[in-house]
Amino acid sequence: MEISVETIGFPRVGEARQLKYALEKYWRQQISLEELLNTANSVEEQNWRVQLAAGVDRIGVGDFTLYDHMLDWTMRLGCEPSRFKSIEDDTDRYFAMARGRTGIPAMDMTKWFDTNYHYEVPEIDQDCSPRANFTSFLEEITRAIDALGSQRAVPIVIGPLTYVGLSKLKNVSLSDIVKKLTNVYVELFEHIMKLGVTEVQVHEPILVTSKGLGMLEMIAALYGGDGTRGVLTADDRLAVDLVTYFDGLDERVYRAVCGSNVAAVSMDFTRGDNIAMLETSGFPADKRLGLGAVDGRSIWKFHPDELTQFLKRVDGCFRSGKIPSKISLQPSCSLHHLPYTVEAEVSLKQNEELGLAPVLSFAYEKLSELTAVREGLSKLESSASSDVFCEVRESWEGFYRLNPKKQPVWDRITSITASDLSRPEQFSDRRPKQMTDCHILPTTTIGSFPQTDEIRRLRRRFISGTISKSDYETEIDKQIAYNIGVQEALGIDILVHGEPERTDMVEYFAQKLDGFAFTQNGWVQSYGSRCVRPPIVYSDLTRLHDMTVREFVVAQSLTHKPVKGMLTGPVTILNWSFPRKDISRKDQALQIALCLRDEVSDLERAGCRVVQMDEPALREGMPLKDHKKDVYLQWAVDAFKLSTAVAKAETSVHTHMCYAEFTDCLDAIMALDADVNSIENARSGNETLEAFKKAGYGKDLGPGTYDIHSPVVPAVTDIQQKLQEFLSCMPPEQLVVNPDCGLKTRKWPETIAALRNMVTATHQVKSQL
Ligand code: GLN
Ligand code: ZN
Repeated sequence: MEISVETIGFPRVGEARQLKYALEKYWRQQISLEELLNTANSVEEQNWRVQLAAGVDRIGVGDFTLYDHMLDWTMRLGCEPSRFKSIEDDTDRYFAMARGRTGIPAMDMTKWFDTNYHYEVPEIDQDCSPRANFTSFLEEITRAIDALGSQRAVPIVIGPLTYVGLSKLKNVSLSDIVKKLTNVYVELFEHIMKLGVTEVQVHEPILVTSKGLGMLEMIAALYGGDGTRGVLTADDRLAVDLVTYFDGLDERVYRAVCGSNVAAVSMDFTRGDNIAMLETSGFPADKRLGLGAVDGRSIWKFHPDELTQFLKRVDGCFRSGKIPSKISLQPSCSLHHLPYTVEAEVSLKQNEELGLAPVLSFAYEKLSELTAVREGLSKLESSASSDVFCEVRESWEGFYRLNPKKQPVWDRITSITASDLSRPEQFSDRRPKQMTDCHILPTTTIGSFPQTDEIRRLRRRFISGTISKSDYETEIDKQIAYNIGVQEALGIDILVHGEPERTDMVEYFAQKLDGFAFTQNGWVQSYGSRCVRPPIVYSDLTRLHDMTVREFVVAQSLTHKPVKGMLTGPVTILNWSFPRKDISRKDQALQIALCLRDEVSDLERAGCRVVQMDEPALREGMPLKDHKKDVYLQWAVDAFKLSTAVAKAETSVHTHMCYAEFTDCLDAIMALDADVNSIENARSGNETLEAFKKAGYGKDLGPGTYDIHSPVVPAVTDIQQKLQEFLSCMPPEQLVVNPDCGLKTRKWPETIAALRNMVTATHQVKSQL
């Protein structure tokens, strides 16, 4: 076997988030473009140096970005939406597309496949006339060649199928646009060849999704097959490595890809079942096989026994002649979904009682894993065991010794019955018993109120130990009192405490549960300059104390109106964390659900009559293949119901969802059996609401009456109009009035003005009923 090592993408914010800070300074006009680019280039060059030092034979380059790689391709392919075309300067246009400008709304963002990274969604209509704009890309590739050599630097190109497949298409067909774009790609490949490059990675992750099946003909046209040469593989001087990730390939797509003229096919062997495909169908002898064997989305080190099993299967394929001798070991996907390095986690490393750091593996450590896997694979032949494998095995043994299974948690999971998942009474029976003091069209908010500098300062002082816990709580209680006072004064009906004690809706709960660990520097890019630091599930999850009761009690003591107990749902907590890899996501969700279930009971005991369980991330955990969606949605719904069904019939259970289109999982949303669903709606027209109606949603709904992402105060008439539209869809008894999402990012004056208008509009609409 001839085994090389390759990477297919790297983190790009910088070990110390240098790029984030430089971007923010540039936007505030504190540094020049040149200074911004200097920072960007030095981060990128450092990335190359690290990969080079780790012995990577071919390094994916050109994936670096100032904001988002899809947005870069929108610029490079000349597919900017027409509203930005008047902005001549490339950089200004680029950031305008990402962040908007007065009068020109930004492009939409959405999740990159099933990851937590957001990309800028291309918008393509019949006016789209692609044109090559590759100057800065080619400069970047030239810098990479200078640093790494033309054989080691492999440009990463987002393929046309993925680019168009992820776009919003308006009055145009996917295949027409792909055809239009092909010439631009051909032009790019010519330029790349002129630089002396001999291979490109064309990333086509769209092929693993259900959409891939509809692209067979386009695969042949672009990459060859069925007797066609393939437009993008027509020139022998430039080899194409077709890269897919995030799941396995469907058999027909696999056959199309294998039958193409590409020189290499790279696949994800950590998700889906590509290995079984190799065993049954083999792999063409004329191509290099890209073996994505190191999980690029897992923060955990590999499990030596599992990996050995896998490598034996690969070796078996090789021995039986099913796969060629040229193999490239690589991460399963770009490493930009991981933090930079475990070395920066001083606290975790010092915490030997936890034993966690030795089993963690971030981007830098994944590079070492690649070499370890190479060694593992070559040692298989001599059946000697590799030192690194032994070392990693010991680390895992140590970890399991220090963090044993919590048997009571598992006993509780096995004893879950169907009745634990259903409310004591049907909606029609329980609804009349709930919130009896809330008349028709009750007004409410989603949970958070403005997080002011004062609150942030307060939190910092508490964390650094400058103020005591009781002083901190006293200050938090003042904020709660203020929030309640504002809502009382505005005449809102169902109140919230305002979440001043929470930095983040997931981190807050993770900190209260036993079994979560936290990093100091484990940042991953969420979008643009925004990074998140997801908590790590390291052990079975348990609730040691109640988590939200104190703040609820404080708030409820200040008002006769109902205050919502405010919780983050199990699926969202899980999806926004780094999960364990050796325990199913379902079991982890159920563990969190059991903790939340106990919290709901405690809130009820403390007098809470309305519980809100937010699930904004329910949709984003959905698998990429249609046939896998039901299984996911089933356990996701079960986890939500396990958390909430314990509520008494008299307790009104709310949920809230946002950040996504929910129209393709309406059955699941209905199955949650929440009494009220306050759902983001303002930006999507009323499509969401209409889809709910069409699906026969019979419970209460709170479609967002205004968009909270903008500081603009909605006029009374705008909200009235919205409410009238809602009322044309559903009866007033079923309607709750609220904004689109939490108000934490807004300032107080606009918050008060907007809510006042919302209440006024509601009164006026009510008086006309
Ligand atoms: N209750 C949360 C808040 O209002 C919900 C946030 C969210 O949906 N992302 O902040
Ligand atoms: Zn929201």
